[in-house]
Amino acid sequence: MKIRKLPTLLINQIAAGEVIERPASIVKECVENSIDAQATQIDIAIEQGGHQLIRISDNGLGIAEDELELAVSPHATSKLHSPDQLAAIGTLGFRGEALASISSVSRTKITSRPTRDGKAAEAAAVLEVEGSRLSPPYPAACAPGTIIDVRDLFFNTPARRKFLRQPSTEFAQINEIVTRIAMCNHNIGFRLTHNDRKITDLPPNQTRAQRVISLVGKDIKNGLLEFSHEDLAEHGGATLWGMAGLPEIARATNKFLYLCINGRVIKDRNLIHAVREAYRGLIPPEKTPVAAVFIEMPAEDVDVNVHPSKAEVRFRKPKQYFGLVRNAIRQCLLDNDLMPTAKLSD
Ligand code: ADP
Ligand code: MG
Repeated sequence: MKIRKLPTLLINQIAAGEVIERPASIVKECVENSIDAQATQIDIAIEQGGHQLIRISDNGLGIAEDELELAVSPHATSKLHSPDQLAAIGTLGFRGEALASISSVSRTKITSRPTRDGKAAEAAAVLEVEGSRLSPPYPAACAPGTIIDVRDLFFNTPARRKFLRQPSTEFAQINEIVTRIAMCNHNIGFRLTHNDRKITDLPPNQTRAQRVISLVGKDIKNGLLEFSHEDLAEHGGATLWGMAGLPEIARATNKFLYLCINGRVIKDRNLIHAVREAYRGLIPPEKTPVAAVFIEMPAEDVDVNVHPSKAEVRFRKPKQYFGLVRNAIRQCLLDNDLMPTAKLSD
């Protein structure tokens, strides 16, 4: 067989295999794009668990009409220009893959009215993409910002479509990721609807504590203690703030353990372990504490270019952050007289 270059559609569909696992991945990628575009309000409308429609609308900076085609091309991004930037990424996206991937496996419509130098364009431009077919952009009326409509997910990749679960299951995943992203971005307003039913409506400009309390539900919100660590010269300028649940509200799953690094939702075994260690002796080992942990650290101390979906990151000094989180939560439990004295010497 001869070696040949893959056609663009196939390249995008292969990339989609990595980053677009299910409707929730599309929601994650698009909401992250809205955040990178400095949106202060993000609305997410879902129909049939995302099988039918995923619509993300924001009031961010938008995409210039003459860049719409680029936005859906692979490896095209406005967020990264030179190799040295890769060492300290300050945006949620940087791979230039999401829109290319999403539009290669769905019927996607992008409506965007950009704002540049404080001035909004007169009208929005609309680009429709179906597989590798792009329509020429046409004008439309719309508020400044961007609307991404994703319909008929996996219509041209039947093998992937088979893996879509029931709408209720897919929606639960969407709800979970929206909750986690909203947790990390307390300044942004979020609205989430499913089949026109309001699920979440969070105002912009909440404090971190207000945002945590709005999201955890009433059986948890009264059992939360605040912790922080300010004197962080030894951690290179990192700051830590969070809320930790009373031992008696510990759960059977990780569902109520939230980790945010520099505004990014992350999964990290080391930090989960740090939280668990803080509660050692206070809760049974099969349970997971309720906690929301927010760390702001220099971008060069955390490598986000580890995993295509960017959920897992790599710390330059994992032990330091382990100690920081464990000690801050432990101190908070101690200060609230929750630590049995026999354990004090640990
Ligand atoms: P990345 O986020 O890694 O740059 P994407 O494929 O997600 O790649 O998006 C490609 C580009 O499209 C982004 O770099 C950005 O310039 C633009 N873009 C995507 N979504 C939005 C949005 N909601 N608002 C403004 N610009 C956007
Ligand atoms: Mg992106």
